[in-house]
Amino acid sequence: MNVDRITEKLNILADAAKYDVSCASSGSNRKNKDKGLGNASNGICHSYTEDGRCVSLLKILLTNHCIFDCAYCVSRKNNDIKRAAFTVQEVVDLTINFYRRNYIEGLFLSSGIFKNADYTMERLVHVAKKLRTEHNFNGYIHLKSIPGASAELMQEAGLYADRLSVNLEMPTEAGLKLLAPDKNRQDMIDPMHFLNQEIIRNTEEKKLFKNAPMFAPAGQSTQVIVGATPESDQQVLQSANYFYKNFNLKRVYYSGYVPVLADKRLPALNTAVPLVRENRLYQADWLMRFYGFHVNEIVNNQNPLLDLDIDPKLSWAIRNMQAFPIDINKADLQLILRVPGIGLLSAQKILAARKFAGLGWEQLKKIGVAINRARYFITCKSNEFERRDLTGQNIKQFIMAQSQSKYIKNTQTQLNLF
Ligand code: SF4
Repeated sequence: MNVDRITEKLNILADAAKYDVSCASSGSNRKNKDKGLGNASNGICHSYTEDGRCVSLLKILLTNHCIFDCAYCVSRKNNDIKRAAFTVQEVVDLTINFYRRNYIEGLFLSSGIFKNADYTMERLVHVAKKLRTEHNFNGYIHLKSIPGASAELMQEAGLYADRLSVNLEMPTEAGLKLLAPDKNRQDMIDPMHFLNQEIIRNTEEKKLFKNAPMFAPAGQSTQVIVGATPESDQQVLQSANYFYKNFNLKRVYYSGYVPVLADKRLPALNTAVPLVRENRLYQADWLMRFYGFHVNEIVNNQNPLLDLDIDPKLSWAIRNMQAFPIDINKADLQLILRVPGIGLLSAQKILAARKFAGLGWEQLKKIGVAINRARYFITCKSNEFERRDLTGQNIKQFIMAQSQSKYIKNTQTQLNLF
C-alpha cells in the first residue's frame, strides 16, 4: 500500500465529505458477535468539529469524481478541484485500521456518482459487505444511497448497513430543479419508499423469526440543505414533516448552506447561513417529534420564519398567551410540555412528584425547570405569581435581557480566570 497516496486520498475525500451532516450514529443495537470487531450500540459517542459538525465516524467519500453538476456541491463536475477515488479494498483497510486504533467507531460512506448510480452504489455495498462478511466487523455503518440506484442494490445495502440515507438536498422540488438539474426528486423518493417498506417488513419478520437477518436496524434518514435556495423555514419544516410522516424517517438533518462556489443561482459567497438558523430548525424538529407540536403551530403563513432570537417553543408561547398560565399541579403532560423552560424529563418528574404534594417554585427548581422562563407561563403552589399584565413581547424582552446578562457574566468569569 502506498501510504502517501492513501493519505492524500484521505485528505481529499474526507474534506469533500465534511458538508454532509447526517452522520449521528444512534439507533442501532448491533452487538459484537462471533468474537468480531466492534460493537455499535445506542449512545455510541460522537465528536463535533468546531463548527458543530459531527465527525465521530470515519466519514469519507468513495470518490469525489461526479458526472453531475449540482451548483451547491464542491464535487460538481465543472469545479476545478483535485479528484481522487478509493478502491473498495482501500476503504475496508482504512476502516479496520482506524477502528483497531480506536480512532473511530464506525464508517460513514458517501460518494460522488461515477459512471452511473448503480455502478457507484454497487461499490458502496461492496465495502459494507466485505467489512461484515470478511472482517466480521460489527461497528456502525452508514451508507449514503445514490439516487436512482436499483431496488436490488438497496436491498443488499440494508443487509450490511445500520443506517441508509438518501439526501433530499433541497427542501422543495423547485429548489432541486434550479440547483441540481441532473437530479430528479422521484429518484430520491423511490428508494426512500422502498427502504420504508423493507424496514417495516423486516420488523414484522423479526417478530416471527428471531433469527431473521437485520435490515437497516438504525432506519433511514435524510439531509436538506438550507439557505442555498430561498425556501422559508415553513417550507423546510413542512417538507421535513411530510417525509417523517410518510417515510418513517429516523432523522432529518438540516445543513446550513456553506458558500464555497460562485454561481449566479446561489447566494453570494459572503452570505453563509447563520448556525443559529440550523439550531432553531433542529429545535423545531424536536418539538414536532417529541413535544406534540404540529408543524403549523411552529411556522405558518403569518410566521414563515423561525425567530432567531429565541427558541421556537418560547416563540410559540408568546404568540399564544391565551393558553397560559397553566396550573403545574393539575395540567396534563401535553400542556406541561408546552411550557418554555420545561423539558421532557422535567415534565415527567413533575407528574411523578406532584402525586405526593403540590409543587412550588423551590421544588420545580430542584426538578430542573428553568424558572426564569417558566414563571411567566405557570402557576404553582407558591404565592408569588409573576405579573400577569405582561404581553408576549414584554416577556420576550425580559428573557432575552436575562440571557444577555448571564452571557456577559459568564464571559467575565471566564476572563477573570486568566
Ligand atoms: S451528485 Fe452528489 S457529489 Fe455529485 S455534484 Fe451532486 S451533490 Fe455533488
